[in-house]
Amino acid sequence: MRIAILSRNSNLYSTRRLVEAARERGHEVDVLNPLSCYMNINARENSIHRHGKELPYYDCVIPRIGASVTFYGTAVLRQFEMMGTYPLNESVAISRSRDKLRSLQLLSRKGIGLPTTGFADQPQDIPDLIDMVGGAPLVIKLLEGTQGIGVVLAETAQAAESVIEAFMGMKSNIMVQEYIREAGGADIRCFVLGDKVVASMKRQAKEGEFRSNLHRGGSASLIKLTPAERQTAIKAAKTMGLNVAGVDILRSNHGPLVMEVNSSPGLEGIETASDKDIAGQIITFLEKNAKAHKTRTKGS
Ligand code: ADP
Ligand code: GLU
Repeated sequence: MRIAILSRNSNLYSTRRLVEAARERGHEVDVLNPLSCYMNINARENSIHRHGKELPYYDCVIPRIGASVTFYGTAVLRQFEMMGTYPLNESVAISRSRDKLRSLQLLSRKGIGLPTTGFADQPQDIPDLIDMVGGAPLVIKLLEGTQGIGVVLAETAQAAESVIEAFMGMKSNIMVQEYIREAGGADIRCFVLGDKVVASMKRQAKEGEFRSNLHRGGSASLIKLTPAERQTAIKAAKTMGLNVAGVDILRSNHGPLVMEVNSSPGLEGIETASDKDIAGQIITFLEKNAKAHKTRTKGS
């Protein structure tokens, strides 16, 4: 197969591993910076150009589109889809997963467990918003935050009110969430590929911190999933329409709760913690599933 990886940096661990795994299996692979792809959209034939030349036809495309280039990156991916290239994850599913509120709404519609979450626009609604999620302590999240930045634990209603007010004053979009204390500063990353969880790890926050992000000093270890956690992760990925997803789960005393579904899950932490060749499994998945014009939505 001829495979394109949409990534801005071919030195990143995940990109390097995918290139390696594809070459090991005898495929041709190019890493393309989505920002250097430009497109010709017309009624007869679509094409993608880069550095003054038209790109060849690729059998499949692996999107590794960073959150900061979602808009342009998904447009490039959509162009590949329109030309018949099989996407590991579809553009529509990626856009959907990048909208945290929309994602939670879709997951709740399917009855998937979530921390009770509220959102509001106006300061006069703050007291009721806090009540809606069961009062303090509660978690306040900036919608555009990643890697745990913009995630705040407010211990009292008073603290919550002033933090929410400050964010609203700055015109930042936020959500307010029930705090799952019994998770003990840990979450579980389930790596879903197709209809299986192929690896999982527990991430534990460092002492004195409730956010378990590895970027915030958390540490990863192996964990055995319960059947309910496994099913929840698979159902969450399926609901989002993602073939590959990193589903983040909190262990609560009323079962697994999904915090987030990541459409571009990193490989380094999970391959290290699980000692598995996840990049190789992704390429094998493409060998089995990549067929021309097999996108469900074709970017619609
Ligand atoms: P990001 O997308 O920036 O990583 P998350 O929503 O995943 O933000 O939150 C970061 C971390 O904070 C999570 O990995 C988890 O450890 C902790 N956390 C987030 N929400 C809650 C919550 N409702 N209850 C308890 N801990 C939480
Ligand atoms: N057809 C898509 C859906 O129903 C719309 C795209 C989106 O997710 O916003 O999910």
